[in-house]
Amino acid sequence: MLAAMTPLAAALLGLVLGAGIGALAAVVVIRRAAKQVRGEIVNRHHLGEILDPLRAAVVVVSDSDRILAASAFAKAIGMARGSSVAPGEVAAVLADARAAGRSAEAELRLPGPAGEILLLAVRAVPLSNGAAVVIAEDRSADLRFSETRRDFVANISHELKTPIGAISLLAEAADSAADDADAVRGFLGKLTRETTRLNELVSQIIALSRLQATGSVLGAQDVPVAGLLESAVARCHHLAEARDISISLQAEPGLLVAGDATELETAVTNLVQNAIAYSEPGARVAVTGNAAGELVEIRVSDNGIGISAEDQARIFERFFRVDADRSRASGGTGLGLSIVKHIAAAHGGEVTVWSRLGQGSTFTLRLPGGREGGLR
Ligand code: ADP
Repeated sequence: MLAAMTPLAAALLGLVLGAGIGALAAVVVIRRAAKQVRGEIVNRHHLGEILDPLRAAVVVVSDSDRILAASAFAKAIGMARGSSVAPGEVAAVLADARAAGRSAEAELRLPGPAGEILLLAVRAVPLSNGAAVVIAEDRSADLRFSETRRDFVANISHELKTPIGAISLLAEAADSAADDADAVRGFLGKLTRETTRLNELVSQIIALSRLQATGSVLGAQDVPVAGLLESAVARCHHLAEARDISISLQAEPGLLVAGDATELETAVTNLVQNAIAYSEPGARVAVTGNAAGELVEIRVSDNGIGISAEDQARIFERFFRVDADRSRASGGTGLGLSIVKHIAAAHGGEVTVWSRLGQGSTFTLRLPGGREGGLR
């Protein structure tokens, strides 16, 4: 492919895709290309076309730092302003490279096209004929990923401390009440509850980590929606009975979703468990499955406590709870909806919420699927 391109274009691609071709090879190609750069200037339009699809911001400047070509991303983030490289911080990297006579690098935080702050790895490479290339790679996603990871670990440590602390206190209390059988039994009952909570928390943390690591479904199968909903409702039967909540189930016959049956059942079960946990005794929960174009819509509705508009924006975050005490009392971990969101995304679908405080909530899972025989 490189042979078919102009040498400068090949060199630029080599630089941007440096990790793939090897940075050294890219520099060799650039040196060779540099000798012909004046010829390439005539072909600026062609060069711009090649740069445009690149995810990095790339700007090629002449020996007087006038812009010869810029990728679309470079224009979008304002790195090519008129005929000069901008903003000042990026121009400074180019100036450093010029002064040193070799490539210069810097990590900069600059506003992106939508005003968000981007973390950019900027590199300026002088070419031997006096032209130069400035490349900025967007590292914001890497930064966000490491920040999210750090928060997750901090949250996990905090969440694990509560049951572990309780278990150790209860064990001590049972030990010091050794002569009082009733008290010991009481402490042991509480110990069992805390270990169950710890078990649930660890299982959910593992489930979420696994979902985040894979991000997609391996070996998807056609899963009948009616059976999926029946299994999820059956898993919540005891919880519903204990809280005197009735569950109705209606699923269009013959509907299928493509995916992992166990993960899908977990997602629906989490939604039904929440509908039960956040409703008052005597309430009703409705579970439905219907076709909607090329999607299948699974809805779990309750007439429970509802969620304010402000909290709706946060409930899919890990460990976010509107009322931590109520969540803990119902055995919640704050991870249920985050797991649902990841399962939906891994299946190429989404989960959304409609809710009004004091009126109830409806969670809708939209997943690719269709009728038996019609699923692609
Ligand atoms: P939890 O284990 O605390 O239930 P989730 O991730 O499943 O964690 O849900 C996050 C929070 O969203 C809950 O703590 C609760 O405040 C709110 N929530 C979830 N489902 C409902 C619902 N059906 N009705 C009202 N609030 C809900």
